[in-house]
Amino acid sequence: MRSIDDIEVSGKRVLLRSDLNVPLDKSGSGAITDDGRIRASLPVIRKLADCGARVIVMAHLGRPKGEDFAERAAGGPSLQVVAERLAELLGQPVAFASDLVGPSATSTVAGMADGDVALLENVRFEPAETSKDDSERVRLAQDLAKLGDAYVGDGFGVVHRKQASVYDLPQLLPHAAGDLVVAEVAVLQRLTVDPARPYVVVLGGSKVSDKLGVIGNLLGLADRVLIGGGMVFTFLAALGHEVGTSLLEADHIDSCKAVLAQAAERGVELVLPTDIVVAPRFAADAPPTVVAADAIPEGHMGLDIGPASRELFASKLADAKTVFWNGPMGVFEFPAFAAGTRAVAEALTKVDGLTVVGGGDSAAAVRSFGLDESSFGHISTGGGASLEYLEGKTLPGLTALEA
Ligand code: ADP
Ligand code: MG
Repeated sequence: MRSIDDIEVSGKRVLLRSDLNVPLDKSGSGAITDDGRIRASLPVIRKLADCGARVIVMAHLGRPKGEDFAERAAGGPSLQVVAERLAELLGQPVAFASDLVGPSATSTVAGMADGDVALLENVRFEPAETSKDDSERVRLAQDLAKLGDAYVGDGFGVVHRKQASVYDLPQLLPHAAGDLVVAEVAVLQRLTVDPARPYVVVLGGSKVSDKLGVIGNLLGLADRVLIGGGMVFTFLAALGHEVGTSLLEADHIDSCKAVLAQAAERGVELVLPTDIVVAPRFAADAPPTVVAADAIPEGHMGLDIGPASRELFASKLADAKTVFWNGPMGVFEFPAFAAGTRAVAEALTKVDGLTVVGGGDSAAAVRSFGLDESSFGHISTGGGASLEYLEGKTLPGLTALEA
């Protein structure tokens, strides 16, 4: 992959695809609750601006809905709040275009001088960005290409997406991978090529269906797999336990049974929690109770792993030389159900080896606990992208940059 140092950027209009998909306050204020992804994108933006490029940043935010640009723009979320935070963090103005390939983008770019930074509105306001129809995506990419002279792909969180700004656009312009993408790929290589052992993988998060592919591949790599979070209940159901009103993907129970069998066959230690923190409803103020993992009462849902499981998981991480962690152990957004996730995060800080945290929510959790980010080997900005890489899939955004 070419890096920024390999292409001409000085005095050029550089279209930079970043991942600025930050979590927003769900209660209505729309405020940014964790700006980790903006911070992770700063070095490349700064570097390009310092090299005298005119940096035109493209990014998406959330999952806009609607038939066309106008409907989506009316529904939001707009990247305006991100432009403001980016300007603060950069310490220089960031011009914001209220469209992607319309009059605002054109005039914003025309008004830029060398070293200026601009952000275009949410790329996903254009339905063509994510279209399955190649020609629709290419048309949008062609319109975007008119705004720039070169392309830099630095949105690691989206490199697994075959989307106009990620996959089609780099094919139309001289292109390079940004430093963040280069660094992320280097770490993922260390997780897949001859990792130091014991190699422990911790998986959590909400949906087991998102993670089944990666578990399959990781069973061929890891020595131990610890499972928590919402996905654990489908595993508990696969063992024949009642899970009350916990998250359950009933149509994946058989796949979980297959994973359990495969782990046993391959000699991979698969560790499930022995106790669970349950509550009668999904709410921050719901009263927590600790129960055995095989005795979740009817009408209760599991929202975190219990204290014995926290100790068990920490002990299974203590001797690790390589750790990959994706997915919170519980609903860490509610303080009463954050202890399991905190315990895993703390255990990782004590590991003497390479520790990698993948996943937007997992990374946000680590930061929300106030843990020193430098005590982790690497905090990845891309959950889905890391998972697909570890699954052994080819990632369209990387393929396009390599070409
Ligand atoms: P990441 O972004 O790190 O890849 P995911 O998106 O897969 O992680 O999952 C994160 C979400 O999983 C969090 O919002 C968290 O609240 C949720 N979660 C974790 N445990 C549970 C649980 N027991 N029940 C419901 N949701 C859960
Ligand atoms: Mg997530």
